[in-house]
Amino acid sequence: MTHIITHTPDEKGYYGEYGGQFIPPPLVPLFKEITLAYNEAIQDIDFITEYHNLLTHYVGRPSPIYYAKNLSEHLCGAQIYLKREDLNHTGAHKINHCLGEALLAKRMGKKKLLAETGAGQHGVALATAAALVGLECEIHMGAIDIEKQQPNVVRMKLLGATVVAVESGGRCLKDAVDSAFGAYMKDPEDVFFAIGSVVGPHPYPMMVHQFQSVVGKEAHEQIVDIAGKLPDYAIACVGGGSNAIGLFDGFLKEDTKLIGVEPSGKSFKDGDHAATLTLGKKGVIHGMMTYVLQQETGEPLPVHSIASGLDYPGVGPIHAHLKDTGRVEYVVINDEEALYAFQVLCKREGIIPAIESAHAIAHAMKIAPTLGKETVLLVNLSGRGDKDIDFVVERLGM
Ligand SMILES: *Cc1c(COP(=O)(O)O)cnc(C)c1O
Repeated sequence: MTHIITHTPDEKGYYGEYGGQFIPPPLVPLFKEITLAYNEAIQDIDFITEYHNLLTHYVGRPSPIYYAKNLSEHLCGAQIYLKREDLNHTGAHKINHCLGEALLAKRMGKKKLLAETGAGQHGVALATAAALVGLECEIHMGAIDIEKQQPNVVRMKLLGATVVAVESGGRCLKDAVDSAFGAYMKDPEDVFFAIGSVVGPHPYPMMVHQFQSVVGKEAHEQIVDIAGKLPDYAIACVGGGSNAIGLFDGFLKEDTKLIGVEPSGKSFKDGDHAATLTLGKKGVIHGMMTYVLQQETGEPLPVHSIASGLDYPGVGPIHAHLKDTGRVEYVVINDEEALYAFQVLCKREGIIPAIESAHAIAHAMKIAPTLGKETVLLVNLSGRGDKDIDFVVERLGM
């Protein structure tokens, strides 16, 4: 079976009806410059070699694929394999695209990397890349998030980044986005806005996708070696969608069933979840046309997930396209299911997963018992869960 899908956007940055570039007119020439610089960079053997050397010697790639034998036997069904992005330097997949963006910014002669962060995961990965590549780094973070995420704030500072506390609005992620964007608009010549997922205006979704595609490329080779065949299913959690598309990219052309897992949080009521593809509608958010959890007025709805990396009211445009074409199925897992899967993986395999990744594990655990023993499930373990243990301890009353 062949699937006719556009994996790269058209010249205007559209994947089917989704994507594009909804930005203020003064930014249009600057985004043209970024697109041009990016297209040149990825054709330049020196750039690609430097990027891949860093992935190998700094990040520690390739990340292994591990056969979760105990978990598979426990579930009495399909065989579960984990792509171990949690073993990367900094503990998640985000370093893959942060390094790519940092190298591109340096090549363009920019002085500073700028971004917003919610829980601080993107901020830490970007501050790491900035330190390595030798750029300044400025991270905007809501004052409430700063209170809640002290260890990540300290990490960013140790890595040499400036953390800007955002005191406006609800003092959370959305306000940090506005603040970071305002700072960018003041000096777009010297500053590179480093987006943390496959979201935002073109060319960001395309760039971040290509930097993350290393995950799927490796997995395609590794799984055949280990399991003797391609996976029947590839499963990943979806916040903005970068770890998911990174894995899926390796299997889009194969017969592998691809499943993206969104957080249904506390309930399906507005404000209780962040299941954008499942419950959202077409609209514009952060410079792109995509599915959005929105009010009648088009304003984004508040969102919730136990996993702060997944609570985003938009989603990468490529996922909107892959949903509409039917190539990827998007399902939901709620807070309780994710928390349960988190504990099972700890106890059965000795692996503490990120609570985001636990959503993908939970879906694998749900379907594995319904499938035959010859079925191969490949799950993207997008990050490690050290960052989540305080919260889990509190939640479980340990
Ligand atoms: C940020 C994060 C995610 C969600 O981001 P995507 O762009 O959807 O991949 C998932 N897992 C971990 C560990 C994260 O840090």
